[in-house]
Amino acid sequence: MSRVRRYLTGSPAETLKLGRRIARMLRSDDILFLSGDLGSGKTTFTRGVCQGLGIKEPVTSPSFIIVTEYTGKFKVSHIDLYRLDKADCDILPLEEYYAQGGITIIEWADRIPNFERRLTPGFYISFRIIRSNQREITIEDLRN
Ligand code: ADP
Ligand code: MG
Repeated sequence: MSRVRRYLTGSPAETLKLGRRIARMLRSDDILFLSGDLGSGKTTFTRGVCQGLGIKEPVTSPSFIIVTEYTGKFKVSHIDLYRLDKADCDILPLEEYYAQGGITIIEWADRIPNFERRLTPGFYISFRIIRSNQREITIEDLRN
């Protein structure tokens, strides 16, 4: 059975719903690597995941603070690498967020050095703008 699934969502509400659905599959220490252009739906999807984990606080884009932490069914560390340059990414201690009994969600994960090599098990999720309200969301479950 393929571990790659491709979805088309026709509205932000549908992307939220997909996030809630993925939330049901999550286990402690899972990492979600999100990639895709600005406005492609990464934060909207993260909001859905957080809803699915019972997090009541509003989920915003952590662009200026890099990491925001929430607590629901699991602790969630929401990381956004958008405003970091490569040198910053190199020294960011991402491993400290992994394996702490929670879930790590990383926007702009393709900015992690050596991301291509996919050395770390997790969900690899890419977002593509098809047209104004349509997004293609590809989810690869590369967990152990
Ligand atoms: P990113 O975090 O990837 O930059 P956001 O989730 O912050 O993206 O923003 C997505 C934008 O696109 C929002 O303004 C949202 O209303 C809009 N949008 C339109 N259609 C969709 C869709 N199908 N899924 C998600 N967002 C959508
Ligand atoms: Mg975002």
